[in-house]
Amino acid sequence: MTSDPVAASTDWAVLVVSEHSENLELSRGTVGNTIKHLTGERPVSKPRAIPEVYRNIQVNFCKQPGCPNFCVEPQLGPGRPGRRVGSDGYKLTGAKAESALKCRYCGVESRIKSNRAIYQEFQRQAAPLFAPSPLICPTEGCLSDPRKPTKAFQKFGKSTAGALRFRCRSCKATFSVPGPTTRQRRSRANALVFRHLVNKSPLNRIVELCQVSFPTLYDKIRFIHRQCSLFAASREARLPEIDLGRRYLCTDRQDYIVNWGSRTNRKTIQLTAVATADRESGYLFGFNPNFDASLHQDAAEAAWLAAGDADKPPQMRDTARVWTRADYAQSLARAAGKRLPAPDGRKGDEVAIVIEQRADLEAAEAMVEGQQLPSHGVQIHADYLVHGHYHHLRHLLRSTKQVNFSLDEDSGLLSACLGAFGDRVRDRTAEVVQVRIAKELSIDDRRKEIADARRSFAAAVAALPKPIRAKGDGLDDHRAATAVVAEEIRRLREASPDRDRKLQGVWMRNPIPDLSEPRKFWRYVSDDGHLDNHDAAFLLRMSTLWPVDKTFAMLRRRIAMFERPVSSVRRARRSWQIYAAYDPRMVGQMLEIFRVWHNWLWRSPRDGMTAAERLGLATGQVREDHILGYDVRAAVERLWAAAAEAEASNRDGYTAAAALNILS
Ligand SMILES: [Zn+2]
Ligand SMILES: [Zn+2]
Repeated sequence: MTSDPVAASTDWAVLVVSEHSENLELSRGTVGNTIKHLTGERPVSKPRAIPEVYRNIQVNFCKQPGCPNFCVEPQLGPGRPGRRVGSDGYKLTGAKAESALKCRYCGVESRIKSNRAIYQEFQRQAAPLFAPSPLICPTEGCLSDPRKPTKAFQKFGKSTAGALRFRCRSCKATFSVPGPTTRQRRSRANALVFRHLVNKSPLNRIVELCQVSFPTLYDKIRFIHRQCSLFAASREARLPEIDLGRRYLCTDRQDYIVNWGSRTNRKTIQLTAVATADRESGYLFGFNPNFDASLHQDAAEAAWLAAGDADKPPQMRDTARVWTRADYAQSLARAAGKRLPAPDGRKGDEVAIVIEQRADLEAAEAMVEGQQLPSHGVQIHADYLVHGHYHHLRHLLRSTKQVNFSLDEDSGLLSACLGAFGDRVRDRTAEVVQVRIAKELSIDDRRKEIADARRSFAAAVAALPKPIRAKGDGLDDHRAATAVVAEEIRRLREASPDRDRKLQGVWMRNPIPDLSEPRKFWRYVSDDGHLDNHDAAFLLRMSTLWPVDKTFAMLRRRIAMFERPVSSVRRARRSWQIYAAYDPRMVGQMLEIFRVWHNWLWRSPRDGMTAAERLGLATGQVREDHILGYDVRAAVERLWAAAAEAEASNRDGYTAAAALNILS
């Protein structure tokens, strides 16, 4: 299940990759079965609709830690007719449109996903890290290999503006790598725009304050995004080789509304983003919305038709990752069938209802009338977004010794986390804890909650079998808290009917008063009896969503277009969301700008340090102009020198260099 995106990075943005031709044949009628029929194999057996491993990714297995089938891949061959449970202990259940894999040992089901679509989504999210270089021949279908740049291209001087020029050796096309401000003549305004963007200035105010036109402003946002992305990639590309030690990571999701259309035809697009934050440093690893700006809806529809996807179950489709018009129509029909509460004549209501239900991400998010597909770019099924996110993390943290996850209570997050980190959970280098928090407590409820917790905690400390001896080192309270949780774990484990994995099915209440997360529950998903009560207590005490939720709140406060939380959409239905984005592409750009600003520039008032410094990724102080002035040409020169050296030493070990990006 390790990912090796470098080898295949050329197809990251391409929907129709070479594998299509094979799949196309299989989908036309049942060619595969016909052949088997002719060769005398069981005529009635059909291959089970479980996707095969794709580039070392297989997420379809039992996701119950400790189960004999945990992390065991299902057999893909034809099932025996008349028997629905395969010899591998898996059974396919559910209707064609939502088939699941059921484990015979533990009885747990999980939705079947396309490994290929997860790989594509992983590549999209991690694209800045892997794009082999900006040195890609612009001629469509040219066979030059961008992974061997010195063989594929030749240097071709510089343009008058200072861009590096290259020529393709096979088709003679020329292309250039511009410096950071080649097209940014009023570059002094860039820093100002950057600061306004992360200080809650609405776009129409930035236009006034910075005295630029709207087209110029959009151009500058694109530029700032590109610089942020290039800069962060240049540093994060080192992460996979770094052992960050023992990390506690927390994942949650946030939803956004994008306005669309005119005042007479109000339509909205709802996008979801997932982010994972490091507890200790606050560093955000990945923050992506379910939107692929590099694809076009028409291309997605063409691929859907060409692959015959209409006749396949969702997980076997070539276009499994993207929302197609057929998916949209089906989702509308399903929503209508569920008979949502009647809206009072406004389109926005239905959207709000569906959003407030906040369906799990195990399956694709639902759509209703009033929502629409974006016209530029393609919306990604949110379940695939989450799987891609965890494979991105898996890559970044592959040298990190121990990763312990806290997840919001969402079966989609859990399934995706175990899909990517299942083997590490099995090998005890990853732990998974689900966290449930009462998010909407009023101030009064919160106060009462804390007061109650203080009292019951004091009673629990007094009732400990072994009293905590005061050492006066300032950690007495922490030792007492861990001892109380350990005592609770001992009690639960003794009362559990399950001999080994006693905490897996238990929601255990946090007994410690906690101002930021009152009324918190933990579910220790990866409990396999391998941690003693004290160590399990320590793990649970470290499990929190606070770092990621704090950052989400900061995004709402800092970026005008994300101001309104989606949960208040219903209340605000009559006011068109004036600061919401009008172009869905803007959501991804702004999230990345925010992520980079938050990780590399924002200094916490607590210790005066940036998240990157606390994580040990920043070697010195990073300034705004390091990011805005980041010069991809320098990285290209380094890449070129490394490739030339590799060639000279006759090694074939060209590896993708950091900081190179084909996005611009
Ligand atoms: Zn199982
Ligand atoms: Zn070429």
